[in-house]
Amino acid sequence: MTSAEQIIADESKYYLPVFARYQVVLERGEGPYVYDIEGKKYLDFLGGIAVNILGHAHPKVVDAVAAQAGKLIHVSNLYYTAEQTKLAKTLVELTGLDRAFICNSGAEANEGAIKLARKYGKTIAADKVEIITAEHSFHGRTLATLTATGQPKYQKGYEPLPGGFSYVPFGDLEALKKAVSAKTCAVMLEPIQGEGGVHIPDPGYLKGAKELCEKHGALLILDEIQSGMGRTGKLLAWQHTGVKPDIMTLAKGLGGGVPIGAIMATEKAAKAFGPGDHGTTFGGNPLACAAANATLSVLVEEDLPANAAKMGAYMMEALNGLKAKYPALITGVRGQGLIIGIQLTKPGKDFVNACMAAGALINCTAGDVLRFVPPLNIEKKHVDEMMAILDKVFAADAM
Ligand SMILES: *Cc1c(COP(=O)(O)O)cnc(C)c1O
Repeated sequence: MTSAEQIIADESKYYLPVFARYQVVLERGEGPYVYDIEGKKYLDFLGGIAVNILGHAHPKVVDAVAAQAGKLIHVSNLYYTAEQTKLAKTLVELTGLDRAFICNSGAEANEGAIKLARKYGKTIAADKVEIITAEHSFHGRTLATLTATGQPKYQKGYEPLPGGFSYVPFGDLEALKKAVSAKTCAVMLEPIQGEGGVHIPDPGYLKGAKELCEKHGALLILDEIQSGMGRTGKLLAWQHTGVKPDIMTLAKGLGGGVPIGAIMATEKAAKAFGPGDHGTTFGGNPLACAAANATLSVLVEEDLPANAAKMGAYMMEALNGLKAKYPALITGVRGQGLIIGIQLTKPGKDFVNACMAAGALINCTAGDVLRFVPPLNIEKKHVDEMMAILDKVFAADAM
């Protein structure tokens, strides 16, 4: 067997040098646990960054993928497959939007959403092409989606960027009101900013944004890539507010770990696309769709959004206990369901490494926010285990 050392050395020689990886080689997983190639066990509260909503190696996903792989892995979108149509129908029924398009990733879903919004704008006026997004947002790494991303650090070096994007402070309706005009084709927002540090806007924000969009004939695009799929305690984060978007994007948890994304649209928005206007070779192939169909059926059968709400509340309470215990270190606990961030007074990186040494995977976003996006089927005992590790790590820091 190749050693971890050798794998890490080879990676640094052969892979594009874009990832600052933790020094561990993961090999297998089971439920909320993963194991490295030396057999060390970790409690996985990062879940592949909000991807592994059923944990690792869920038998229903494993069976669905294995059965589908033995039958048909891929065919072109020039043909129909039962798995793809079934996924589209399920997504429409579960979300209340009218149409679905299946692609391969979050960035690709947002890229398609941006294209659809531009086409829609042009059905109204030739210059109705502008897209407003939020500061500290995250929408992906393609040229258009990193431009939509309101964080200069992701854009630097890639200029010239596509035009037509502008940014407003997240959660600030007055700023949005000033920015929206007849030239706006869409306002694009995350209902909860994930990568930006787990920021939840005031309850009226999405409603106000939707009203401004309606007033100016613009579309509201909600990026539910991280907040969707049950994570916040409802299937979609916007369902807490009742504000239905015109276009919505999904990815991360949708395939239970298999790469997949989706654009959802109302009929009004969807009509702007016709044959040939958008496409994908791999997107919606039967293997990925079978994984998503199995994931969705478990999510619905086991009512995982409800479990996310329950476990999230339990975990927030425990984290607030840690905040009271370490007030010099923790200044805030933010979250909804099982997307939770704790605001630290110093960089989070060392704590992530200390947790890893103690047997838990988490990550740090926005520099000083520890983020938890575990599987949605975790139990109290897993939260307790995570809290014990955090307590130990924070206590060592306080000494
Ligand atoms: C992760 C993420 C994306 C990008 O998804 P990829 O699959 O990495 O392209 C876009 N938007 C949000 C809100 C995300 O969390």
